Amino acid sequence: MSSEELRKYLEFYRDLGVKELFRPVTVAAEPAVEKPPSIKNVELPGLAPEGDTLPAILADIGDCTRCRLHEARKTIVFGSGNPQSKLVFVGEGPGADEDAQGLPFVGRAGQLLTQMIDGTAKKEGIPLTRGDVYICNVVKCRPPENRTPLPDEMEICGEFLFRQLSAIQPKAICALGSTAAKALLGTKDGVMKLRGKWHKWRDIPVMVTYHPSYLLRPYNQNAKREAWDDLKKVLHYVYD
Ligand code: URA
Repeated sequence: MSSEELRKYLEFYRDLGVKELFRPVTVAAEPAVEKPPSIKNVELPGLAPEGDTLPAILADIGDCTRCRLHEARKTIVFGSGNPQSKLVFVGEGPGADEDAQGLPFVGRAGQLLTQMIDGTAKKEGIPLTRGDVYICNVVKCRPPENRTPLPDEMEICGEFLFRQLSAIQPKAICALGSTAAKALLGTKDGVMKLRGKWHKWRDIPVMVTYHPSYLLRPYNQNAKREAWDDLKKVLHYVYD
């Protein structure tokens, strides 16, 4: 049918009062995917000043509102342990217990981390307990529902993590889980691939291992053994 014929055909039916043919078509809208609002115009934390210290970093964090995670947090969880430690453990972000107490790794995953550090050190004859190392997270505020921190949250808070590590200058870092590995190594590789081997953050050796929360799942017994092996490697490297 030519366009002229089509026009005439439509006019014929319109004149007959056939409205259906001329009803505007409504296309169903795509279901909205809920995304958190993007963080714009945020001033990234400054680079580490000369002679940076943990108290100075904490003061710079202040009552932070740089990203959306501040909205639901109770407490900023900065870090705990020995600020002169030769070993720093880096987790993902605070959970409910940490948010309530203001300290990293104090919930169930934290208790397992304590057992791992204290137990491995004792078994290997290394005089060390959890209080002798430094522990912190990539993000300092609890993500809602314990979700994984988003890239922009990691980027903003990661600057403070980097300052903490630069100030402490440990002999080695142990990255617990994929968020810590991603933040420190800038890689998309998963823990399975990265674990058990040495990597580097700036000049500091980084060992990646499983996050204790992952090890708490009953079907991950083999991963538990691997994590203990990884930890043994780290402790001997740092303390022999
Ligand atoms: N998981 C983390 O990654 N960090 C904590 O502090 C607690 C649980």
